[in-house]
Amino acid sequence: MPEAGDVALVRRGALRSLAIRCPDGCGEVISVNLDPRTGPAWKLYDREDSLTLFPSVWRESGCEAHFILWRNRLIWCDVSDPHSWRSEELKRRIHKLLPAPGLQHAHYADLAMQLDVIPWEALWTCQALVADRVAVPSEKGSRFGLASAPNAPRSSKVDRTA
Ligand SMILES: [Zn+2]
Repeated sequence: MPEAGDVALVRRGALRSLAIRCPDGCGEVISVNLDPRTGPAWKLYDREDSLTLFPSVWRESGCEAHFILWRNRLIWCDVSDPHSWRSEELKRRIHKLLPAPGLQHAHYADLAMQLDVIPWEALWTCQALVADRVAVPSEKGSRFGLASAPNAPRSSKVDRTA
């Protein structure tokens, strides 16, 4: 894996780790543990021939690179814009699962688990529902619930003198 961003799966019997040549070009190899028996582990999703890691990878030393691996693509986490990935089907499925107003909000990773989808896609879908004003986020932006029903539109004053 000579290039920045290249990845290699390490298997010894079971899946052990994912080695990533740091995508920012610093040259270091990041080893991401995939084996929960040996400590905190990331979850690897192998879907349609592409790899996704959850949660994000954050080097706390050295270059401090922070990124997501999603369907073989590296996405930097310092980009504040919500991701543009959209699925109308997933929107409908998540909409049905969101807790009603007043109930405790659901974490996007739990919604993803219930629907057997990639957590990042559940997060981006929740964010899209927020943009549509269907959902509201919790303070930290990782839990979501249904927005209260919008008030009935107020009738605007009609100028009767016309
Ligand atoms: Zn780096």
